[in-house]
Amino acid sequence: MTRFEDVPTTPERAEIRAAIRALCDRFDDTYWSEKDREHVFPHEFAKAVADGGWLGIAMPQEYGGSGLGVAEAAVMMQEIGRSAGAFAACSTVHINIFGLHSIVKHGTDRQRQDWLPSIIDGSSRACFGVTEPDAGLDTSKIKTRAVRKGDRYVVKGQKIWTSTARQADKVVLLARTTPREDCAKPTDGLTLFYADLRAPGVEIREIAKMGRHAVDSCQVFYDDFEIPIECRIGEEGNGFRYILDSLNPERILNAAEVIGMGKRALEKGVSYANERTVFGRKIGQNQSIQHPLAECWSELYAAELMTLHAAELYDSGQPCGTQANAAKYLAADAGFHACDRSLRTHGGMGYAADYNIERYFREMVATQLAPVSREMILCFIAERALGLPKSY
Ligand SMILES: Cc1cc2nc3c(=O)[nH]c(=O)nc-3n(C[C@H](O)[C@H](O)[C@H](O)COP(=O)(O)OP(=O)(O)OC[C@H]3O[C@@H](n4cnc5c(N)ncnc54)[C@H](O)[C@@H]3O)c2cc1C
Repeated sequence: MTRFEDVPTTPERAEIRAAIRALCDRFDDTYWSEKDREHVFPHEFAKAVADGGWLGIAMPQEYGGSGLGVAEAAVMMQEIGRSAGAFAACSTVHINIFGLHSIVKHGTDRQRQDWLPSIIDGSSRACFGVTEPDAGLDTSKIKTRAVRKGDRYVVKGQKIWTSTARQADKVVLLARTTPREDCAKPTDGLTLFYADLRAPGVEIREIAKMGRHAVDSCQVFYDDFEIPIECRIGEEGNGFRYILDSLNPERILNAAEVIGMGKRALEKGVSYANERTVFGRKIGQNQSIQHPLAECWSELYAAELMTLHAAELYDSGQPCGTQANAAKYLAADAGFHACDRSLRTHGGMGYAADYNIERYFREMVATQLAPVSREMILCFIAERALGLPKSY
């Protein structure tokens, strides 16, 4: 298959890229399409990433991580997205990479000692329980309640779209501890926990969905679910702020994943355009095939530069909210266009499972919706970068 020249980078990042590529090459389209078809979690791939020591790429060294930046983690996630595993492969490891940042930043020494090493070596797996059916993107409206009773909290509520809940033994859970009407701001009164998911009071139901079938997305019901007070992250009532801390790196990593996915789809499209002969010539000789593919290459390259820029701002401690959001926006659009054009370049074969483009396409759709939609990103950029009134 065609492989485009990589965007120039530092020697260290080029090494990361090469190592991850070699690891991912062990898991080809046949492996991933079977996992997708059978709805089976890719344990072998997850283990290979953990065994390579990659889960701790951006985690502190004192807990077994490598202490590298978001820029390096983005290189890694882009390469995973560019592999045959596409979004499923990214989602297999995504939360281990940066999902526990709130613990790194706001947890106690004891919590970090107890929780981070097992996430880094892959012996523990966490999922992320924020979204609820009735709250949507307005997180302040979540209804899951955690009521303090002595040395524990008792939780009641329902989460939706909790990815990997079937595989995880831990959940980063956001719940309301003070009623919204008693808070100065709607986002006050929310508390973050890191709790055992394999416990009484938890029921998990998988959601039937369009793609990324190897990685489950679930409804999780909490009914008198008890969380010891030692499992609270930071102070009661500050959970929303802690989540915000990890939002920018998450946008950046997500953008990197999508760019990788877009590149792979485009590479397959270009290969096909170079091979397929119709009307006595390669279809890639037609400008109506060439130009859209060239547009996709340019869009992906531009999105990658923006993603790298946002990552470097973050790593150097500078504000990067608008850039991280713009990177996510550009990447999701560029990735989607690349997948769409590749599918059409394949003609009818784009629709056939054997060529894998339809699998990439089904997975790519999710990146337009989650973890944040393009509309909400544009609302944010309009407000923060353009100074327009807040619209949501
Ligand atoms: C594959 C997948 C995996 C996920 N994994 C997780 C996970 O692990 N943990 C987790 O907690 N969540 C997860 N999510 C949930 C995801 O973060 C939410 O779906 C996402 O935040 C959007 O929320 P919603 O679906 O409720 O959309 P809604 O909030 O209902 O919005 C619906 C539409 O309306 C638009 N909209 C809403 N308000 C406005 C406005 N004011 N202005 C303009 N447009 C607006 C939105 O952009 C969107 O297009 C996942 C979702 C998917 C699809």
